[in-house]
This record gives sequence, structure tokens and C-alpha cells, in this order.
Amino acid sequence: MHIKALQRFCLFLTLVPLASHLEAKVTKSAFGSTPDGTKVEIYTLEGDGLKVRVMTYGARVVSIEVPDRNGKVADVVLGYDSLEGYLHDPKTYFGAIVGRYGNRIGHATFILDGKRYQLPANDAANTLHGGLVGFDKLVWKGQEIPNGVELTLVSPDGDQGFPGTLTSHVRYTLEPHALRIEYTATTDKDTVLNLTNHSYFNLAGEGQGDILKHVVMIPADRYTPVDSGLIPTGELAPLAGTPLDFRKATAIGARINDDNEQLRLGKGYDHNYVLNGKMGAMHEAARVEEPTTGRVLTVETTQPGVQFYSGNFLDGTAHGKNGHVYGLRTGFCLETQHFPDSPNHPKFPTTELKPGETYHQVTVFKFSTAK
Ligand code: BGC
Repeated sequence: MHIKALQRFCLFLTLVPLASHLEAKVTKSAFGSTPDGTKVEIYTLEGDGLKVRVMTYGARVVSIEVPDRNGKVADVVLGYDSLEGYLHDPKTYFGAIVGRYGNRIGHATFILDGKRYQLPANDAANTLHGGLVGFDKLVWKGQEIPNGVELTLVSPDGDQGFPGTLTSHVRYTLEPHALRIEYTATTDKDTVLNLTNHSYFNLAGEGQGDILKHVVMIPADRYTPVDSGLIPTGELAPLAGTPLDFRKATAIGARINDDNEQLRLGKGYDHNYVLNGKMGAMHEAARVEEPTTGRVLTVETTQPGVQFYSGNFLDGTAHGKNGHVYGLRTGFCLETQHFPDSPNHPKFPTTELKPGETYHQVTVFKFSTAK
């Protein structure tokens, strides 16, 4: 090899590892106030191939801008232009961290250490996403950290009926072409928790129609079937032979109207998939490709399950960003999680947290493009 070419090659080799540790730029600005006067801040994280905004109200992801296969950038999550929209949100939970218990608890009650706890019912007879005032409606404390922001919330003992003072930290950081979400939490009394992020994706861009052409793959052999209140029956049922099986990449719209009891109950996909990967270690939760733009989202997690929700309750009442009205199935969620209603199903992986223990989960949303 020519000596100059060799020098250039060596320089290239030294730069490659640096590129994968690219620093993200983090800026903070004001984003209005809640009705009680609490100030809300918004953090902008700019990194390699990705720009993400996160606000302190509900620790919500407000926007994720990523390029398509031709380099055209779009915001791929549903939401509102201003804080006002989020304050009047019709129960969509756009971009929020839901807690203390994301997803449903049947009959708004559970027993822990022999004691029955009663929660507010906010979804027919059940509790959804932590109760009437869940973590999505509280202002978290923001602090800039390398490549991102850490949000902290202290939920007092008895908050929404749950025992124990729970201190939660959610760290949003950028990695090259990826948003990493790391959750930690501690308690001073035995409690239960299930934290997740409730972003609605539309990889064609928010407001660009329904998500039925998105092609989804979920590496799960089993799921938790539900009853009419969307509460798991307790069974871990095989997906093989059902229109809920996404082990082979399939368009969301291909089977969503099939004659199937579970699809009828969920009004589409609204089910917890039991991931094949090992709980506690990073494993794949889903891969989604949008054929017209080529945008691809890959989700990895330490969690045992993922709620695949095809936006069946979006009904045009949410008037979102850029004047877009979000109608039926214009966004989908991949909520990495412990299984719904786990406190009432001793056979499900436990969601209990005791004093002295640290809850720790990681989920990464990675973006790329396909031809
Ligand atoms: C649930 C849906 C619910 C939605 C609320 C999802 O996590 O699975 O049933 O309607 O949250 O936006």
C-alpha cells in the first residue's frame, strides 16, 4: 500500500471508535407551567442521526426527529406543539413515563404481604397506568447528564393507594442513532411497580396517516390473553396459528380485522407479548419497518414483556402537532414492561420491590433505514 494511503487508513481506524462515542449536545428551555404554577422544562438532545426533546411534565418524550432512507427528517412520535395540549390530553399518555404501575391492575386492587390495597379505578373497574394522577401527570425534576437528561420523581407513601415512598430516576441518553431509557427506583416499604414509556410511533412521520402498513416483528412465542376488561387471564398462551403472531415480520393491517376473539377484545392489537429473550439481559423486543420511507425502529430491553398497542383508542379527539388530527391507528406503542396485573398473578415475574433493592430496567429505541 502507498505510504500516504496507509497513513489515511490508520487515521480512519483511530476515528472509527471515536464516532461511536459521539457526544450529544444537550440544551434546556422553558416549556410553560402547570395550572398550579409549577414550571415545566424541555430538554433537547442532539446527537448522531437523532434529535429528541424530553420535558419534565410526565417525563415525556415530546419529539424524535430521524432521517428516512433519502435523508429527509421527520418527527416520528405523536404529541402536541405546546404544554397546553398535554395538560388537556384525552387519556392518550403521549410519550409519557407511566407509573407507578404502567398498564392495568384488575379490579383496582391487589394484595401485598397479606394486606389488601385499594387503588382508584380509572379504566372501567380497573386501574390503568398508575391511577387518576399517575406519573404521566406529575412534574419531574430534570438534571442534565452526559449525553442526556435525568428525571427524578418522588412518589409519597400512599400515592394513588400504593404503599412506600418510591424514588424513581429515568435517564434519557443518546447513543448513535438511538435513544436509551434507563430506569432505576428505590422504596422505603414493600411496593409494586412497572415503569414504561408510552411513545406512539408513526415512522412515516406524525400525522402521516395510519400505521397499518408498518411491518412488525416481535420475537415472542407466547402472550398473555386478556378478558373483556383487558386484564390477563393468567395464561401464557402460544401465538402460533393466531393473527397475533409476529415472529415472522407482518404488516400491522394484514390481519388486524381477522375474526379473532382477542383482536375483538383489544379492538385491534393491545396485548402483552412474552419476549423470548432472557429477562434482565438486553434482548430484542421488536423491529418495525415503514416501507414508504424505509425508516426502521428496533427496540431492545431488559424487560420480560412488551405491550404492542396499535392505537385503537385514538379517535380524532387528539389535535396534535402541526394541526394534525390523530385518528384511529395513526400511531403504535411498544411499551416494554412487566406483565399487566402481575400483582394479582403470582406465577408472572414479580413486580415487587423491597427496601434495600434497586429496580433497574433499560430500553433502547434504535433507528436505521432499509432500502
Ligand atoms: C393500553 C391501552 C390504552 C392505552 C391508553 C395502552 O398502554 O394498553 O389499552 O388504551 O394505553 O392510551
